[in-house]
Amino acid sequence: MRWSFQIAKITGIQIRLHLTFLVLLAWVGLGSALEKGWRSAFTGVALVLLVFSCVLLHELGHAWAARRFGIRTPDITLLPIGGIARLERIPERPSEEIVVALAGPLVSAGLALVFGAASGFTLPPLDGEIQEWGQLFSKLFTINSCLLLFNMLPVFPMDGGRVLRALLALHFSYRRSTRIAATIGQGLAIVLSLVGLWLPAPMLLFISVFLFLSAGSEASQVDLREASAGLRVQDAMVTKFSLLPQTAHLADATDLLLHASQHFFPLTDEGGRLIGLLTRNSLIHGLNEAGPMGSALSYSNRELPCLHPSQTLANACALMQQFETPVLPVTNAGGDLVGLFTAENLGELMMMETQSRESVLDRKRRF
Ligand SMILES: [Zn+2]
Repeated sequence: MRWSFQIAKITGIQIRLHLTFLVLLAWVGLGSALEKGWRSAFTGVALVLLVFSCVLLHELGHAWAARRFGIRTPDITLLPIGGIARLERIPERPSEEIVVALAGPLVSAGLALVFGAASGFTLPPLDGEIQEWGQLFSKLFTINSCLLLFNMLPVFPMDGGRVLRALLALHFSYRRSTRIAATIGQGLAIVLSLVGLWLPAPMLLFISVFLFLSAGSEASQVDLREASAGLRVQDAMVTKFSLLPQTAHLADATDLLLHASQHFFPLTDEGGRLIGLLTRNSLIHGLNEAGPMGSALSYSNRELPCLHPSQTLANACALMQQFETPVLPVTNAGGDLVGLFTAENLGELMMMETQSRESVLDRKRRF
């Protein structure tokens, strides 16, 4: 994750801290120092660190459970909103997903029990001021209990959402289960937001919007993954486009944009070899800076990797993200440009695939 750095390595898992987390610490520390003095600032910061150690243990619970099924966790990142364990992949079997999803909340439940027992299951002081160990334990008891309850909400990306999906997947297809789980999650998010409005509790409102959006995005990610399984770059690439010589001006590209609706312009040398790719955005940028007679080559991207027609879509999408580009050139074994792989075309292909596969599934169910 960007803006994060490694602070430790536990059983081969990188533990990373997001920079915004330090902002949280500074905010808590300075806030309490100005209001109640340095002693209170110290306990405030110590409490945040303790709470996040509990969050870290929760995430390690997921990671260690996943390891039992041969799934690695490269890193865990701690953010002010909680922790994220990045698993190499989601377990395929529903029973495995249930175990991995429940492992984190189980750790939180264990911690809540330990701190609860240490504090005699009392509630922390209302003013939040911690004077002795018992109060600290009762605070950690409450926080771990809240963490447990919040994580067991049946909404993606909470653990409860994953458990719900896995339970559904025992009966339905993975994709359908995700859809149902996402819809239930979004329904719950709407209820939470209404409660947030009624109380009023702005934080709850904020959380419910986040939950609503993430439930939707999880469902479309699974849609995309299922639809793209088995597809290759050659299924999604554009094969009809015009080439520009390396000496072309920006005006030549503008011509193609206006008269052929082409958005990406491959530039080739005399031998027909690709030497750069001009995008619509860099064309506009170039026109602003150098005018229509500017050189197309100097505004084109010459560092893009070339895809192969038989490469998987997942692979191509990963490269697209890595290079932050809406287009990648596709070349054959001889190095000749045979296509352009564009995000726009990919979106259209996915739309077609989702539609056709759904109807195939419907037909299967009917007969
Ligand atoms: Zn969790």
